[in-house]
Amino acid sequence: MKRRPFCRIDRDGCIACGGRVFERRSVISDALASAWGLSARERAEFDEREGQACAACQMSKRVRMLLWSIRKLFPSASSLRVLHCNQVNGLSPWLRTLGQVTETCYRPELALGAKAGELVNEDICQLSFGSHSFDLAIHSETLEHVFDFNQALREVERVLRPGGVQVYTVPLLHGRATRQRMEREADGRVLQLLARSFHGSEGEFPVVWEFGHDFFAQRSTHIVELHYDLYWRNRTVFSVVERKKAVADREPVDSRVFSQPKERE
Ligand SMILES: [Zn+2]
Repeated sequence: MKRRPFCRIDRDGCIACGGRVFERRSVISDALASAWGLSARERAEFDEREGQACAACQMSKRVRMLLWSIRKLFPSASSLRVLHCNQVNGLSPWLRTLGQVTETCYRPELALGAKAGELVNEDICQLSFGSHSFDLAIHSETLEHVFDFNQALREVERVLRPGGVQVYTVPLLHGRATRQRMEREADGRVLQLLARSFHGSEGEFPVVWEFGHDFFAQRSTHIVELHYDLYWRNRTVFSVVERKKAVADREPVDSRVFSQPKERE
């Protein structure tokens, strides 16, 4: 895993539009700060991550971080097949410059794979796309709402071509271990382990996971790069890059059993 601690996304102005004025809004409510158990510093860090938007184009620092990572990985791409899960605010026009973009939403009342306007209704844990359909997948602030986030990451990996990457963000606190607020039983029943918590407004998708430092350990064999804005100043502003291994990179297969290395489905 490679860390690049000091990329400084705003050094030359807003990475999206070049704007030099950034708004400062408090977006973490007292109720959320209390439920999440944020220290004053952690709350200020999340306020900066979500509330320090470019005054000209309104892109948040979190999304500017994501865009920085995408540009770093694909400085001159124009023919990528891109999967954009759950429409990250303001990112769509930039992804379209990279190639063909498929955008998804998640609306439980619709059939999976159904069109919802320009979007496709998709459950990130069971995508309707064929394997090896995309070169790049983007998701942001989705995994904390998914019961089996490792399955979501596996499923996105499945639809990537070998060597393809997924770039994503999660809200994470480095100073503590992951905490689970909800659990789904084998029979589908949902258990509320801690009080219901929402990152947006009440009634949106509730928080299942409050990620902590162990998230990186869990994903360590998949993460190839971690990009931070300024690690020491605000450790919540980062994006994660996971790469799907090419066939040649996979574990050697016992040739007495298989004549060809098998692609995992
Ligand atoms: Zn801007």
